[in-house]
Amino acid sequence: MLEVSTALEIVLRFAEPLPPLAEALDPSALGRVVAEDLAADLDSPPFTKALMDGYAIRVGDNGSRIVVDELPAGKVPAIPVNPGEAIRIFTGAMMPAGADTVAMQERCERTGDTVTVTDTGLTVGKNVLPRGAEMAAGEIVVPVGSAVTPALLGLLAGIGRAESLLYPRPRVGVLATGNELVGPTQLPTDGQIRNTNGPMLLAQAARLGGIPHDFGIGPDDGPALKQAIQTAFDSSAVLLLAGGVSVGDFDLVPGVLASLSVEIHFHKVRMKPGKPLLFGTLGRKLVFGLPGNPGSAFVGFELFVAPAIRAMLGHVDVGPRVRMRTLTHDFKANHDRPTYHPAIVDEARVTALPWIGSSDLRSLARVNAFVVLPAGPVAFAAGTAVNTLIMEP
Ligand code: AMP
Ligand code: MG
Repeated sequence: MLEVSTALEIVLRFAEPLPPLAEALDPSALGRVVAEDLAADLDSPPFTKALMDGYAIRVGDNGSRIVVDELPAGKVPAIPVNPGEAIRIFTGAMMPAGADTVAMQERCERTGDTVTVTDTGLTVGKNVLPRGAEMAAGEIVVPVGSAVTPALLGLLAGIGRAESLLYPRPRVGVLATGNELVGPTQLPTDGQIRNTNGPMLLAQAARLGGIPHDFGIGPDDGPALKQAIQTAFDSSAVLLLAGGVSVGDFDLVPGVLASLSVEIHFHKVRMKPGKPLLFGTLGRKLVFGLPGNPGSAFVGFELFVAPAIRAMLGHVDVGPRVRMRTLTHDFKANHDRPTYHPAIVDEARVTALPWIGSSDLRSLARVNAFVVLPAGPVAFAAGTAVNTLIMEP
């Protein structure tokens, strides 16, 4: 059976960004990734500027200086600073010719048209930002693969960009399968349960930046399930099927996928929960068959689907994020496979939650992490550092 790391490598071999699109650089672009190298169109700052309110001076002059002009931000200097002169200047204003330094106003004494600088520590260039100090025109300042953050949107505006090529968000279709499933507003009759995987997986996909598309519930009936899967494939770049992927007589998903010419790359991963996980491709589309137990579907998503979506969005760092965290308590376990145990991470510490098994959504609803346990017996003392899978915030 495949190890988690091998299975993930296989998934990532097929998870490629879709062709980039030119899109507006506004808050809707947050979480997306830039798909082209972008250069500064101008030097920044575009002129040598004052960083303080004070007086533009020649630092080498001695004694008091005559104030010959005033320069608020946005005004173009009309006259230079000659020896023995100063110009009153404000933060952000263009430095006048001749001046090499700004003496901050708190360290100056002004009497009429004369200013005396009391700051003895001034050197050439103090409180001045030279033209091009931050970036030079033509320099690549936003390379391909940059994640769009608020600061990056500011930087892009600073280089004159209102739109750029971004990798598209993949459409993530979700189809829950099972004759026992009913929608959240329906009252289950005998033998029925509510479809909890659908809303959960749609939200997991959306949290990562995918476009969720709900295809509802498909039945455990070959022809009808085939029709439902076909329809879902038509408008999904990533298709998530939940349930029906194991070895029971009514686990029809693997057979239906094969009949649709899906290439199945693996079916079963050495992990708990979620062993019967299936991954396939249809052309460039990805399909994941996640086991129906909500815990299995959730963990399968975080381990395999989340990195795939991040790779398709163009991210360089795709996860999953596994870090060492210190247990707050003694912890014993004995599983026949590597196991992902629901937990809560708080800074550097992790607390495993009581957990009754892979259908336990009450525990899952509180978790932001999973302790990653090796197969076989383990007995960790409180304070032991353990591998921990940490969710997206
Ligand atoms: P399956 O993977 O289809 O064998 O389902 C495993 C278990 O998960 C069964 O107890 C199902 O009833 C349950 N299950 C399957 N799909 C869902 C779903 N969408 N929501 C909640 N439970 C489900
Ligand atoms: Mg089923």
